[in-house]
Amino acid sequence: MLSSMMQRPLLISSLLEHAAHWHGDTEIVSRTVESGTDYQVHRYTYADALRRCKQLANAMSRLGVKRGERIGTLAWNGYRHFELYYGVSGMGAVIHTINPRLFPEQIAYIANHAEDQYLCFDLTFAPLVEKLAPSLPGVKGFIAMTDRAHMPAINVPNLLCYEDLLSAESDQLVWPAFDETTPSSLCYTSGTTGNPKGVMYSHRSTLIHTYGVMSPDAFCLSSRDVVLPVVPMFHVNAWGLPYVCAAAGAKMVMPGAALDGASLHRLFEEEGVTMSAGVPTVWMGLLNYVKSNNLKFSTFKETVIGGSACPPAMIESFERDFGVTVVHAWGMSEMSPLGTMCRLKAKHLKLSPTEQFAIKIKQGRAVFGVELKIVDGDGKALPHDGKAFGDLMVRGPWIVDQYFKEERSALRDGWFATGDVATIDADGFMQITDRSKDVIKSGGEWISSIDLENIAVAHPSVMEAGVIGVAHPKWDERPLLIVVKKQGAEISREEMLKFFEGKIAKWWMPDDVVFVDQLPHTATGKLLKTKMREEFKGYKLPTA
Ligand code: ADP
Repeated sequence: MLSSMMQRPLLISSLLEHAAHWHGDTEIVSRTVESGTDYQVHRYTYADALRRCKQLANAMSRLGVKRGERIGTLAWNGYRHFELYYGVSGMGAVIHTINPRLFPEQIAYIANHAEDQYLCFDLTFAPLVEKLAPSLPGVKGFIAMTDRAHMPAINVPNLLCYEDLLSAESDQLVWPAFDETTPSSLCYTSGTTGNPKGVMYSHRSTLIHTYGVMSPDAFCLSSRDVVLPVVPMFHVNAWGLPYVCAAAGAKMVMPGAALDGASLHRLFEEEGVTMSAGVPTVWMGLLNYVKSNNLKFSTFKETVIGGSACPPAMIESFERDFGVTVVHAWGMSEMSPLGTMCRLKAKHLKLSPTEQFAIKIKQGRAVFGVELKIVDGDGKALPHDGKAFGDLMVRGPWIVDQYFKEERSALRDGWFATGDVATIDADGFMQITDRSKDVIKSGGEWISSIDLENIAVAHPSVMEAGVIGVAHPKWDERPLLIVVKKQGAEISREEMLKFFEGKIAKWWMPDDVVFVDQLPHTATGKLLKTKMREEFKGYKLPTA
């Protein structure tokens, strides 16, 4: 028996067509890369973007790009990158966003593994592209995302100018229709161990994820919003925002390369930004800037923070000092990336602010479309009591099954193991305890490095903190706290440890504190625990 409903495929091109038709005069504002440190923005509308995306798709066809072929990008959040998202996927090819913060060898590995046909780059990355070009034999041409006047003087084979390519083409095109399971975009996980692995999203997974992200208990986006994605378009599609904003008809504001506090604050104010999203490290910079300059936000209402655990002190500061609501979120590249978001339920609204805060620091509830469970070592489901913790497993239509070019499915009994350890409470709020490889195993019990880090950064003298397990003759591992002090601040080892008293079980107390100038980060802004463990491998704890 057949249903009565139309069989219209879920295609990415439909998002931009919708935005251009029904929100045609809504703006996309981008801080330009060409202007360097000068404050200059480029401004156009969804209707303009659609025309240029069609020109871009026509240009790609003229270059010989075929369905399914990959086009690499090394670019910031900006209108040309946005056009590549739609022009490339819209024509049936695959946009492969590359994280420029990876080591050059990793970038070369990724671009070769993906078999990128062309590599599009912002001017910032011209020197990097020149260095990489000899190790990218498969790339047929390098497209500088700029106009003729700003073309970089670099020595790479077949250097092309983005604006020249577009201006040679018509803006007329009927987007091709194809199966919704056709691949649309490709991201590689940072791979702190081993080679990066590719996650190939489809038109279908992207569209369903878009509905999920836009929904009220998730990002809650509408045509009344002005969205500034600080989260980069080179990292899991800026959490889907280039798609979600188009679906919602929200104004987009893109910061380009200027991610410092002063630049961001100016953009927030001048463009009337209402909502934003990013990882904790970026917000740390912005918060420090606005605080030390006695500034406020006039339109900014809400920000989504995720990618690594958002310290409770950051949520508190945003809400108390600036009236900006923080919504904690969790996800990963393998999940497109959204998994959970932390918004209170009706029954929580009558709780005291302190009780609400205890919920808001969790990573949140599953967005419709994501199934979650926690299991023990034997794969047995654990209770949702907020106490039992186990391996967090997920499944759903926007979650990876098989990594790109891998022979076998990555699933275990139909579920994807996230590598995170978590609790789930009776109301369904999930809280990450740790990444399974970062959890500290002390005398057969587990200590959460995230909990200890969250407490340390709440101290007014602490800028950033990381906790790792260090070998201990009696307990296997004990926690070592590594701290970066705020500029000009002073704090002793004893004061630091005293700050933990009463906040944790006694046996969770770090065995020692080390002060350093900076901590190592991954290309996506997370603490690089493998490097920290390596650096402190032979560290002699005073308790050993
Ligand atoms: P990578 O940065 O390695 O490319 P992802 O960005 O996909 O990978 O990282 C996903 C991981 O980041 C999750 O599995 C989890 O460990 C961590 N993570 C993401 N959001 C949060 C959060 N809100 N709290 C704690 N950890 C988080």
